[in-house]
Amino acid sequence: KTLLNIENLHAEIEDKQILKGLNLKVNAGEIHAIMGPNGAGKSTLASVLSGRDGYEMTEGKVDFDGTDLMELDPDERAKEGLFLAFQYPVEIPGVSNINFLRTALNEIREYRKEEPVSAKEFMTMVRERSQIVELDSKLASRSVNVGFSGGEKKRNEIFQMAMLEPKLAILDETDSGLDIDALRIVAAGVNKLKNENNAVVLITHYQRLLDYIKPDFVHVLADGKIIKTGGPELALELEEKGYDWLTK
Ligand code: ADP
Ligand code: MG
Ligand code: MG
Repeated sequence: KTLLNIENLHAEIEDKQILKGLNLKVNAGEIHAIMGPNGAGKSTLASVLSGRDGYEMTEGKVDFDGTDLMELDPDERAKEGLFLAFQYPVEIPGVSNINFLRTALNEIREYRKEEPVSAKEFMTMVRERSQIVELDSKLASRSVNVGFSGGEKKRNEIFQMAMLEPKLAILDETDSGLDIDALRIVAAGVNKLKNENNAVVLITHYQRLLDYIKPDFVHVLADGKIIKTGGPELALELEEKGYDWLTK
């Protein structure tokens, strides 16, 4: 079953063309890695899919599990089951992590015409899933991300993903230093939550993360397009040879 089908996606920021005809198809049960040189448009892709302000699709089509994704506002995209890792690390003073998640989870359930989560079920989920990312239980009751360290925000982000059970998670592991601990946490979360009904797209500049999570497909994004697709071995080849041999 196809969860995400991106066809000929063109997108711009501030009248600057960044994505120039990008195609990508992600089926349920798959892990895809998107790699590529700095400035290639990786984060732009994540932003366009999330519906972030200022990122405009100028051509193309994005189907998400049978729905025209670009017709939905960002909130609806999340409720349809799309999770963008950078969507949640915002700080929300005065709203506890737990209450934030319970509200988000119940909004998703309501949207799907499902019963709200019971207090007991919710607490069980919190206990089990915070353990996956070794999140300190005290952080659950603190305001969302306020005063969290970088590592705690990362744990919390993956905890949120675990709680919201998205159909498709897109994790943009921006180039700035994810330490080994953070990589291990992301990997533990992804490996634990991955099943035959969902899918993960990992955006990463470095091969390191892929030592911990084995992708089914590795794509190279350069100058706004996917220019090469392979298996896990492609990531190792890129680590060794860089990107120039593909773009020159
Ligand atoms: P990557 O994540 O692959 O490193 P980005 O998607 O962040 O690449 O950036 C792609 C291009 O878009 C770069 O040339 C970058 O300078 C430009 N860009 C990114 N964000 C903005 C913005 N808010 N305004 C203008 N240009 C931007
Ligand atoms: Mg970058
Ligand atoms: Mg980026």
